[in-house]
Amino acid sequence: MVQVNFKNKIPPDLLAAGLYIDSTLKKAGFECYLVGGSVRDLLIGRTLADLDFTTNARPQQLLKLFPRTIPVGAEFGTVIVLHKKTAIEVTTYRLETLYEDGRRPKKIEFGDCLQEDLLRRDFTINGLACDFSEGVVIDHVNGLADLRNKIIRTIGDPMVRFSEDGLRPIRGCRFAASLGFTIEAATAAAMTACLPTVEKVAAERFYDEWRKTLKHSDRARFWQLIRDAGILPVFLRRLAAAVEQTSVWENLQQILKNSNPANMAMYAAYFLFSIKTFGGKKENIHDLGKDFFRECRFPVAEAKLALELVGSPFLGFTPEQKPTSVAVKKALAAVRIDHLRFHRRFAAEMLRHLYRENEVAVKQMEKEIAAYLRNIRRRREPLTIGDLAVNGNDLKEIGVTGTQIGEILRYLLDQVHACPDKNTKTELLALAAAQAKISI
Ligand code: ATP
Ligand code: MG
Repeated sequence: MVQVNFKNKIPPDLLAAGLYIDSTLKKAGFECYLVGGSVRDLLIGRTLADLDFTTNARPQQLLKLFPRTIPVGAEFGTVIVLHKKTAIEVTTYRLETLYEDGRRPKKIEFGDCLQEDLLRRDFTINGLACDFSEGVVIDHVNGLADLRNKIIRTIGDPMVRFSEDGLRPIRGCRFAASLGFTIEAATAAAMTACLPTVEKVAAERFYDEWRKTLKHSDRARFWQLIRDAGILPVFLRRLAAAVEQTSVWENLQQILKNSNPANMAMYAAYFLFSIKTFGGKKENIHDLGKDFFRECRFPVAEAKLALELVGSPFLGFTPEQKPTSVAVKKALAAVRIDHLRFHRRFAAEMLRHLYRENEVAVKQMEKEIAAYLRNIRRRREPLTIGDLAVNGNDLKEIGVTGTQIGEILRYLLDQVHACPDKNTKTELLALAAAQAKISI
C-alpha cells in the first residue's frame, strides 16, 4: 500500500476545501478520490495549485449537495464546488466512451466505478487516484511503477488510445518534457503511426498545449519530441520546413534551452529569430511569421509583438556595434514603451546566444544600455516626435507644406536626439526654416 503525506504539499486553503469536499461526499454516502494530475504531482513532490476530484455522485447530486457550485460542464460531468474563496473541480466517474472523430467522445456516459474512470484516462501516470483523507493511493494501471521509472506510457494499447484522441500524443510530449520522463517505445511509435488522428485536432488546442510549456524547464525537449513524432508539420507546416536545416534547429534548441520567455510572443520570436539568423535560404520573416501565426491561431497582439521583437532595434547593439546615447534614444523612440522590457530581454537573450564565447562583452554592453536609459529618463530627454517643442501646425504656420512636414519633424527629432538643449520652439522653428529653405 502506498500512502502519500500531502498535508504540507497543499496550500492550507486548498487543503481545507479538499477536506470539506471529501467529507461532504462521504457523509452523503458517495465515493470521492483525488485523481489524475493532482495525484501524479503530489507523488513527485510538487506543491499543488489545484485539486481534481472524482466521484460516483452525478452532477445533479453535486449541485444539490453543495450550496455553492458552478455547473461549468455539468453535461460532461464537471461541477466546480466553492469553499470560501477556493474553487475545486469535481467530476463524475465516466466510462470508456466511443470516440467519433478523433477529437471528442461521441457522448459522455457516467459510471459507477472508479476503476473504469481511471482506465479511460490517457497515461498511466495520470491514471492514479488517492483517498484524500487517508492518503492511500489506488493504482489499477501500474502508474506507480511508471512514475518511479519515469516513463510515459498510455493506459492500454497506444494505437487504440491515440486513435481515439489525437491530442494525447501532444500531451504525451508535453508531460515527457515537463517531467523529464522517457516515452516508452510502443507509445512513441504510436504517436507517429497515429498522425492522421493528430491532424484532426484543432489548431487552438495545439496552441494551448504549446502555451502550457511557457514555464517549463525543458521547452527544447518538448519541441524535439514534437518534431521527432512528426507532429510539427501537422500544425506548423511552413515553420517545420524552415527549421528543418540543421543549423536552424540546433541554434533554436540552444536558444530554447537557455532562454526564459516572458510571454508567448517572446517564445514564438525564438523560432523566427533562428530562421532569420541561421537559415541559409533568405526567408521573408514577416511573411513566414504571418503563415506561422495563422496556422496555429496565435493571438493577434502576441503575434504582432513577436514580429516586432525579431526586428527589434535593440538587436542592433552588439559588442562590435556598441550603443551610443543617440542610438539608444532612437531605439527607444522606435518601440512602444510598454514593450520596452520585452525588447531588452529578448535582445539580451539572443545576443548572449550569438556571442556566447564573449559573455563578458555582452554583459558589459547591457550595463551600458541600462546606464544610457537611466540617464535619458532622469533628464526626461525628448524621444519621439510628440516630445518636440513644435508640432505640424507650427511648421505650417511658417510655410512648410505637405509631405515636407513629416520629413522636417523627423529631421528635428534627429537634431534633438543629438542635442536635447535644442528642444525649444524658437530654436526648432529656426532649424526647420533653414532646412526647408524658408525665411522667417
Ligand atoms: P496539467 O494540468 O499539469 O497539464 P493534468 O494531468 O492535470 O496535467 P488536465 O488536462 O488537467 O491534465 O487533465 C486532468 C486529468 O484528466 C489528466 O490527468 C488525465 O487523467 C485526464 N485527461 C485529460 N485529458 C485527457 C485526454 N485527452 N484523454 C484522456 N484523459 C485525459
Ligand atoms: Mg490539471
